[in-house]
Amino acid sequence: MPDTIALEAREVTKRYAGVVALDRVSLEVCRGECVALIGESGSGKTTLLRCFNRLTDPDGGSVLVEGADVAGVDPVALRRRVGYVPQEGGLLPHWRVRRNVALVPWLRHVTDRPALADRALELVGLDPSVVGDRWPRELSGGQRQRVAVARALAARPDIILLDEPFGALDAITRADLQASFLELRRELRLTALLVTHDIAEAFLLGDRIAVMRLGQVEQVAPAADLRARPATEYVRQLLARARMPV
Ligand code: ADP
Ligand code: MG
Repeated sequence: MPDTIALEAREVTKRYAGVVALDRVSLEVCRGECVALIGESGSGKTTLLRCFNRLTDPDGGSVLVEGADVAGVDPVALRRRVGYVPQEGGLLPHWRVRRNVALVPWLRHVTDRPALADRALELVGLDPSVVGDRWPRELSGGQRQRVAVARALAARPDIILLDEPFGALDAITRADLQASFLELRRELRLTALLVTHDIAEAFLLGDRIAVMRLGQVEQVAPAADLRARPATEYVRQLLARARMPV
């Protein structure tokens, strides 16, 4: 049923000078689903993610958000509906936490922006009265990532794009944030496309997992299917390596 598809890439191609970042990539994310996008560095994960909010415009193919081709959608309007957590968190260092979180509501000219920001901070498990007036540099790594997620949620999007949101954290903080993310998704019924290079994280957070390699999607499947029936030798090896003790 096409009306249950929130995000869709159809044969999307993106080239940079001498590099094919995306090579006829097709992917669907259903409403309420979380697809985890995994692949080595340089495989095209960030480029694909950014096609969905028009930070990147493809050279070929089409990208649809809730059935509409994004090529015809105003990028600013699109980014109000699709939350985005960039790879490095993207907090502005010279803005305090509350103002960072209120960025998208501010772009929307929403009244009562501080209240929206505070509600978003609470959603991600932070006390606005404690962190709201801090500078990003005054936060721990885990708190910073929570703020980055809060900012993506402040405008109440149904869809969220996350680029290695828990990548640079120690194992305990990471597990904590992963648990919060699972809870948030249930509570807000979010559709999510989440980039990670960690297979364990993909298995934990993804309803389905999309494996990218050299600008192509090798396989999209639930974790159990990926294990039972890897579509390519690359996927098989990836899973075999992941099971090896460190
Ligand atoms: P990943 O997120 O999986 O690490 P990226 O999507 O960032 O991969 O990059 C895919 C490929 O496209 C890489 O070879 C990268 O160097 C190239 N690339 C990405 N963005 C740009 C850009 N703005 N200019 C030139 N090359 C780029
Ligand atoms: Mg990347």
